[in-house]
Amino acid sequence: MEEFDVLVAGGGPAGAVVAGCLARQGCRVALLEATAYDVPRYGETLPPEINPVLRSLGLWEAFQALFPLESSGMISVWGDPLPVEVDFVRNVHGPGWHIDRGRFDAMLMKEAASAGVHVYSSRRVGACCREGDGWTVGECRSRFLVDACGRNRLRIDDDGDGDGEGDGNIDRETEDVLVAIALTISYSGHRPRDLRTCIETTSCGWWYTAPLPDGTAIAMFFTDPAVYCQEGIAIHDQLQAAPLTARRLEGGHIHDSRVLNVSSSCRTTLFGNGWLAVGDSASSYDPLSGRGVFKALRHASSATDVITACLRGDTSSMPMYATQVRREFDEYVRQRRLYYATEHRWSEYSFWQARTK
Ligand SMILES: Cc1cc2nc3c(=O)[nH]c(=O)nc-3n(C[C@H](O)[C@H](O)[C@H](O)COP(=O)(O)OP(=O)(O)OC[C@H]3O[C@@H](n4cnc5c(N)ncnc54)[C@H](O)[C@@H]3O)c2cc1C
Repeated sequence: MEEFDVLVAGGGPAGAVVAGCLARQGCRVALLEATAYDVPRYGETLPPEINPVLRSLGLWEAFQALFPLESSGMISVWGDPLPVEVDFVRNVHGPGWHIDRGRFDAMLMKEAASAGVHVYSSRRVGACCREGDGWTVGECRSRFLVDACGRNRLRIDDDGDGDGEGDGNIDRETEDVLVAIALTISYSGHRPRDLRTCIETTSCGWWYTAPLPDGTAIAMFFTDPAVYCQEGIAIHDQLQAAPLTARRLEGGHIHDSRVLNVSSSCRTTLFGNGWLAVGDSASSYDPLSGRGVFKALRHASSATDVITACLRGDTSSMPMYATQVRREFDEYVRQRRLYYATEHRWSEYSFWQARTK
């Protein structure tokens, strides 16, 4: 049995960064990741606010070595047929970025490994049950467990009776669920020169398009699960209804498509006896916010101090961490509702009726 101070389940941005930060503070850390970073990952647009966070985490050089694509701003057709443009030139933090998420996550994992984290890839963590004063997962044993498994989160039984009824199993509070139809677009010639992120609404949902560093682009159509399942979505019709998006995809062809569920939700219990949740496992946001990765890194950074205090026997900062995550989620929900409410043009359609109540 290998002994660790902390086991981190999930090697996305939140898990890799909290693991690396803890290792730099002298903790023995194991990071268990279900994949070998070989499956498509989504969430490829980073806001300018990520720049100071990457610098403070000592990740700036490794990030720049990925040659991320600079994003000069956003253009949105939302609530009005006239596009609204937001230029990052005046942003104090500098530009935003378009990244290859697979390479970004793998870079964070490598940085964690070079800080001393024992990385176990292709290792899916099942339900976790606390035994005695710690956690056992496969051949690893630790005093503390971090759930960084993303929106699907871990099943955690922290009262040690093995009945699967620990506090960590109480469900999530869900604000909304969307279906994302994600298309990867290749261009036979040059792709459009506009490198901004674009958002555009239709009667059934909204489009998001962004260029990627390898010359391809990502286009996602977000709609309601009921609309998707009961009425069906003809992607060509949705594209015709979104002229700006259609222009940006001209000359491109779809080389991959996937359908994903995307929830806005917050875990009801964010910490317990010897564990806490970070990143999307703690709270997940609508991709409209563009802040999922930023939030994951922020959680990882604040959780590091909370966990090191816990390992010293001081658990007093756990409730403060949870309050902060919850407060940020509530503020995000408030802003999200306000933003959806600014789209009045499709008020007779169920997608918008459900989101502008
Ligand atoms: C369609 C879509 C578009 C998005 N667009 C953006 C965007 O443009 N910008 C942005 O900032 N955010 C975006 N997001 C959100 C962003 O992707 C997430 O907020 C971010 O990835 C959260 O990081 P995380 O580390 O908490 O979770 P994840 O990135 O989900 O990482 C979780 C990790 O845990 C692993 N894992 C899962 N279960 C287990 C298990 N049982 N055992 C071991 N490992 C496990 C997974 O393989 C994964 O590596 C988008 C999300 C979606 C779904």
